Amino acid sequence: MMQANHPSLKSWVEVPKGSDFPIQNLPFGIFKTKYLSPVAGVAIGQHVLDLVYLHENAYLDGLGLPAGVFNQKYLNDFFALGRKTITAVRNRVSELLRHDNDEMTAAAREIALVPMAEVQMLMPVRVSNYTDFYSSEEHATNVGSMFRDPKNALLPNWKHLPVGYHGRASSIVVSGTDLHRPKGQIKPADAELPVYCPSRKVDFELEVAFITCTETKLGSSITTQQAEEHIAGLVLFNDWSARDIQQWEYVPLGPFLSKNFGSTLSPWVVTLDALEPFRVKGPEQLPHVLPYLSYEGARNFDIQLEVLLQAGKAEPTTVSRSNFKYMYWNMCQQLAHHTVNGCNIQVGDVYASGTISGPSPGSYGSMLELTWNGQKPLSMPDGTARQFIEDGDTVLIKGFAEKEGVRIGFGECKGRILPAL
Ligand code: CA
Repeated sequence: MMQANHPSLKSWVEVPKGSDFPIQNLPFGIFKTKYLSPVAGVAIGQHVLDLVYLHENAYLDGLGLPAGVFNQKYLNDFFALGRKTITAVRNRVSELLRHDNDEMTAAAREIALVPMAEVQMLMPVRVSNYTDFYSSEEHATNVGSMFRDPKNALLPNWKHLPVGYHGRASSIVVSGTDLHRPKGQIKPADAELPVYCPSRKVDFELEVAFITCTETKLGSSITTQQAEEHIAGLVLFNDWSARDIQQWEYVPLGPFLSKNFGSTLSPWVVTLDALEPFRVKGPEQLPHVLPYLSYEGARNFDIQLEVLLQAGKAEPTTVSRSNFKYMYWNMCQQLAHHTVNGCNIQVGDVYASGTISGPSPGSYGSMLELTWNGQKPLSMPDGTARQFIEDGDTVLIKGFAEKEGVRIGFGECKGRILPAL
């Protein structure tokens, strides 16, 4: 086990019970305060550790870090140093924060630790490219049953390749950013012609995304065995969707305006290192996959996921509990498939899993499935009902892995839908 993951580690920074950010996590993000312009930091308990301060005051010497690498609006240049350096920085920060380490003076501790209540979290990376997969068998089966035929819910290719499409990078926003209800073309069931209006079926999609930390050459491919060396870490991801726009536009080339009006990601990039203890085997893949998609080892991760829906300022209520471990196709297979034709990847690419639905109705990862396309509305604590997302509703995704008293959390992925402009 990596020393930085050891369950017995404790920090001199107070970490409240149930915190997403114990010393075993140490995710990276970009934050600003009233006094600080955007810089890189690490989450610990209810504080953010300022990496620029640590770097400029020689606490990170010997790790081969270029000057100014943390004094930036995005983590791209840091991530571009590669998995080994990301690991080395996390290991060093772990050492500095250990309860029995006194390298940081009282003054240094005071300056380097910023209370979370005083920071604003920003986009962790400048998103270079965004790809969305469709890798949950339960989700693909539910959607196929609803929109096509329950007997042939999965299309013939689904168990042979991780289906995906290229999404839009420009409209990915960080947690806490409001989005307006999209407008577009929809074709009501009883109408002969399409109409242009605000979407009546705005939905969330519960997803986890990985962020890459390398540039590869056009023409080259990444194997399933190499894939994790290219992944900096994971974030929670809400791939907002307008189901009515989607249903009218998606044949033959897939989703377009139904998806690119906004996607929300959580601000803390949780490293694959921190998630190492939570590896689990994925579902058995039958029929057997082609050799370039075969893989060794446990490549799924046991990450508990929860979606809460909040009407206006009412108490948020849980509408779904799922788990990242349900994914049929794992990240290594996704990246191998994505590059098998020679497509190059870039630092700061976001690759989303696709909606993560579990086997039971309470674990479905979208309103489309939870309400079965509006047929079974969800009742809300304020007495109202929801078929889809209403104006003023906030969707909150949480995620954490937990074992032996260690909780590796992601923080929040939150977004509110405002009325159409
Ligand atoms: Ca999606």
